[in-house]
Amino acid sequence: MTEDKPRSHGRLAISASLKPRELMTDTPRLKGAWRARIITLFPEAFPGTLGLSLTGKALQEGRWALETIDLRPFGIGKHRNVDDTPAGGGAGMVLRADVVARAFDEAAIGTPVERSRWPVVYLSPRGRRFDQAMARSWAEADGITLLCGRFEGVDQRVLDHYAVEEVSLGDFVLTGGEIAAQAMIDATVRLLPGVLGNAASTEEESHSHGLLEHPQYTKPQVWEGREIPPVLMSGHHGEIEKWRRAEAERITRERRPDLWEDSGDSRRQPDR
Ligand code: SAH
Repeated sequence: MTEDKPRSHGRLAISASLKPRELMTDTPRLKGAWRARIITLFPEAFPGTLGLSLTGKALQEGRWALETIDLRPFGIGKHRNVDDTPAGGGAGMVLRADVVARAFDEAAIGTPVERSRWPVVYLSPRGRRFDQAMARSWAEADGITLLCGRFEGVDQRVLDHYAVEEVSLGDFVLTGGEIAAQAMIDATVRLLPGVLGNAASTEEESHSHGLLEHPQYTKPQVWEGREIPPVLMSGHHGEIEKWRRAEAERITRERRPDLWEDSGDSRRQPDR
C-alpha cells in the first residue's frame, strides 16, 4: 500500500446529533466525513469486520463514521418489546411499525432530507440487488441510514410511511440485516477518498467497467511447476495491459455472460 496525501477533509468535528451511548467509537470524525447510521437490535455486531484493515484504519482516522442506534430502548413497556405476531397468522414475529418509527426519527436528526444525499434503506431479501453502481452512488452521498431487520421482517406501514428503499445483498435469506449492512458499508467505504492507499485500484478492479478482473500473480515466479505468465515479467507495459484486458474479457465472457452482454456498449468505446 502506498501512503497517500490527505484529501479535502477539513477540521475535526464533534458529532452532536446523537447521544453519546449511540456513538460507535470515541474517535473523532473529520468534518464532512461520510456517516453510516445503523438501526439494529445487535449494536455489538458493529464495527465487526469493518473495524479491521483499511476500513478500520479509515474509521480510526475519522474518514468515515459509524453510529449504531439500538432498537431495543424504543420498545414497548417494561420489557421493551420490539416485535409482535404477524397479522393474519403464520410463523415468527414482525418488528412493530411504531417502534421502528421512533428509531427512524432518531436516525433522521441532522441528516439531509433529499434521499440522494442520504439514502434510507431497509436490508431485505425482497429489495433491489446491491451492486457496485449502488456503492458508488452511496459513496457520493453524505451518509446513509440502514435498518437491519430480524425475525420475519418489518411492518410494511413503516417502510411505506418513511419511503424506505429495500436493498438486498443477494438471492438468499439471512437471519438478520447486520451482515448485509456490513458488506454494503464495506463496499461503499472503500470508494471514499483516502480509504484505499492506491486510488487506482478501485478503477481497475472487478465490476468497475462491467468486466471481471484479470488473474493476479505474485512471487515466487515458479510454484509447483506453475509459472507466472511470461508477459507479466516482460516489463513491457503495453503488452501487459493488452494481456490483462484480454484475460478480463475472457473471464467475463466465460463466467458472467449477463455482465458481458450488459457491458457491450461501454466496451466498444475507446479507452479513457
Ligand atoms: N421473512 C422475510 C425474511 C426475513 S429474514 C422474507 O421472506 O422476505 C430477517 C432479516 O434479515 C430481514 O428483515 C432482513 O433485514 C435481513 N435479510 C435477510 N436476507 C437478506 C438479504 N438477502 N439481503 C439483505 N438483508 C437480508
